[in-house]
Amino acid sequence: MARYIFVAGGVMSGIGKGVATASIGKILQSKGFRVTAVKIDPYVNVDAGTMNPIEHGEVFVTADGTECDQDVGNYERFIDENLSTNNYITTGRVYEAVIRRERNLEYGGKCVEVVPHIPEEVIARIKKAARLTRADFVLIEIGGTVGEYQNSLFLEAARMMRLNSPQNVLFVLITYLPIPGIIGEMKTKPTQQAVRWLNMAGIQPDMILARSVVPLDLPRKKKISVFCSVAKEDVISAPDVKSIYEVPLNFEKDSMGDRILKKFGLRAKHKGDLRDWKKLSKTIKTVKNSVKIGIVGKYFETGKFTLTDSYISVIEAVKHACWFNKRKPEIHWLSSEVYEKNPRLLKELKDYDGIIVPGGFGSRGIEGKIKAIEFCRKNKIPYFGLCLGMQLAVIEFARHVCGLRKANSAEFAPNGKENVIDVMPDQDVLLKEKKYGGTMRLGEYQCRIKPNTLAFKAYGASSILERHRHRYEVNNAFRSALEKRGMVMSGLNPERDLVEIAELKEHPFFLGTQFHPEFKSRPTKPHPLFREFIKAASRSRGKLS
Ligand code: GLN
Repeated sequence: MARYIFVAGGVMSGIGKGVATASIGKILQSKGFRVTAVKIDPYVNVDAGTMNPIEHGEVFVTADGTECDQDVGNYERFIDENLSTNNYITTGRVYEAVIRRERNLEYGGKCVEVVPHIPEEVIARIKKAARLTRADFVLIEIGGTVGEYQNSLFLEAARMMRLNSPQNVLFVLITYLPIPGIIGEMKTKPTQQAVRWLNMAGIQPDMILARSVVPLDLPRKKKISVFCSVAKEDVISAPDVKSIYEVPLNFEKDSMGDRILKKFGLRAKHKGDLRDWKKLSKTIKTVKNSVKIGIVGKYFETGKFTLTDSYISVIEAVKHACWFNKRKPEIHWLSSEVYEKNPRLLKELKDYDGIIVPGGFGSRGIEGKIKAIEFCRKNKIPYFGLCLGMQLAVIEFARHVCGLRKANSAEFAPNGKENVIDVMPDQDVLLKEKKYGGTMRLGEYQCRIKPNTLAFKAYGASSILERHRHRYEVNNAFRSALEKRGMVMSGLNPERDLVEIAELKEHPFFLGTQFHPEFKSRPTKPHPLFREFIKAASRSRGKLS
């Protein structure tokens, strides 16, 4: 029998609700329970695939090819489980299903109403996730903050679930306690207001996760307890921390896991000391030698804050690999457009131990990225290309080594004669019909690895599964020309004979993947390719400058 823990936010957004939800999962898992997590996003988009990552953050891709919110990535990284389409709910998905059912006369002539039919669909989806994962605990994160019009139907679903099975449903409110500079004191009033909003939705929180710059003191806990009708032991301190991987350790300082279990009348199956994460946390705090990685992108002008969200899985994968190699990650954002305007600036790349060109869409900044890749190839700077970063490495090699001066991708030169990267025929049809949503080559596909290659050395396996999100591919008509001049196609998809990995020899590390390895990296299990890339980058430290 599954238990359900709803997590909703109060006061303001952006306070780490996803990480908090993932952390609760990690804690319960460490106590011997099976855990899964569901993200509910209130927007009408059916999935995150059609959203701009600068506005909404990274589009995370699950093994089954669901394009979802970045929080699902956090869940996977924390609980170390592969999630699926069942772990992701949006208003769009819910309405789409209800309307389809209505059109099929499945409501038997009834008037289909927003309440109860929409919350009922939400509940059915949450229960399906529980059933399919056979989880003891299902964590459900409700996007947005309480008091918003948008997510009220999801709160309604939570209320109805609690009504039907009060002993199996728990409600956690995560709030923020500001310390206004002029007052210099932590204020609880916004939290009290947030609880009122929740009460208006018919829900009383069982626990309050109190985010703030510093830990909560006892007077503050008592005050929240009195005003919000929550035991002071259930007001959990959630101060700012340097690394997100410390969050579960911090919650456990207030015994959050045991408090939750007690409310359900359960006991820990084992002690759950989070030993591996304590070790990781120690490494994070103590590593001294840094490795400097540059990420070349077009999103420079949007500010660091947005970038961190748009590329979260890449950043986390770099960090995991750095910690494994006992290195301190130092990540810098480099604007490709700057290199287009002023190629002399390319020499700054020599100050970096490794360069990444991550995934992307559209032609802006492309030529600058190609210039940066050329510089890395010629100057033996470790290079790792992810999806678009691989396609551009192939274009660069075709132009400057194979003499195909017009080499390009059909994405940027639809009528190009030397498109070494071409649109996949099935994708071409979809694009012409404007069928954009959820139609890319998505999710896990098999890849065979050639022996005696960098890829084989990293994976130590001849067949792997990796996650994809793209419409374009290496054009097989040019494959032999590329191979003849030394590009090694070290990973191939067996069903469609598509190039999945391309690499170069006689270079410390030069490799690109058509897939997105970053989605499979986990904090204590770095992805093999990131691990090898960082290893090569650590070796090159100081050699070039
Ligand atoms: N725009 C490229 C494609 O669609 C690369 C996609 C990506 O980097 N995710 O194939």
